[in-house]
Amino acid sequence: MLDNLTQRLAKVVKTMRGEARLTESNTAEMLREVRLALLEADVALPAVREFIAKVKEKAMGEEVIGSLTPGQALVGVVQRELAAIMGADLGPEATQINLATQPPAVILMAGLQGAGKTTTVGKLAKYLKEQKKKKVLTVSADVYRPAAIQQLQTVASQVGADFFPSSASDKPVDIALAALDHARRHYHDVLIVDTAGRLGIDEAMMQEIAGLHAALKPIETLFVVDAMLGQDAINTAKAFNDALPLTGVVLTKLDGDARGGAALSVRHVTGKPVKFAGVAEKLDGLEPFDPNRMANRILG
Ligand code: GDP
Repeated sequence: MLDNLTQRLAKVVKTMRGEARLTESNTAEMLREVRLALLEADVALPAVREFIAKVKEKAMGEEVIGSLTPGQALVGVVQRELAAIMGADLGPEATQINLATQPPAVILMAGLQGAGKTTTVGKLAKYLKEQKKKKVLTVSADVYRPAAIQQLQTVASQVGADFFPSSASDKPVDIALAALDHARRHYHDVLIVDTAGRLGIDEAMMQEIAGLHAALKPIETLFVVDAMLGQDAINTAKAFNDALPLTGVVLTKLDGDARGGAALSVRHVTGKPVKFAGVAEKLDGLEPFDPNRMANRILG
């Protein structure tokens, strides 16, 4: 079992006398421990570097108040900064789903195959229906895997959301526009569009989803990413962020043993807030993202 950050830093500072300030010298060794802890939590290296630089800047000269040790003081800075970067400093609106548009509000789902897109469509439909009292229509623009269309239909019926049938012989953009027209005529508040995912990044897939984005003009374009991807999440996030104006991220499979470093990596590379966390296979396993909780989880 790995020590948590407080324990690790306690070991480093054991040799230090009660110093009243965080200084270059008493901080350097502790920052090495922070860096290691982040790498162990699967945060990608560029994100770790940027974060450490920020913590260093904030920590220098910080008073070590009362009975705190320098280690405890630094853990406080690290925790605050981590939560801030992941959204705590953005205000609640930035991390909440945005539906502030003329209905139907369109939500476009992007991500690799297996990331949890279809499951998340179901979870999101349930959340919007129950928590926000919205009438939700779902549609699949995945014409490559008929099983995917079927899967969405099953998921939609489980959560009591409407489902717009699509045919694998139609073009994704035509399917999505037909669903949008249907949503308008039937007074749906929200249309959630599931899209095809490939096993890896490929140009054709990126062009297709960019075309869907251009046609639908979604208010939310959510990048769905598997927390278990660890450091690889950064490459996937970069490819999707380059191809699409993402508005937010859904981090799935946080019920697994991933420490959640992907949350920081994805935030680093996209600049977009994580809005939801997938915490179970079941369709009620979606939670609004909590930056403070995630900071604690990453730090172990
Ligand atoms: P898609 O290919 O992106 O549409 O991915 P799916 O929605 O089909 O999900 C792939 C697998 O991941 C399925 O077995 C889901 O049940 C599972 N899954 C999705 N989200 C979660 C989650 O938050 N937790 C767990 N444990 N499993 C999930």
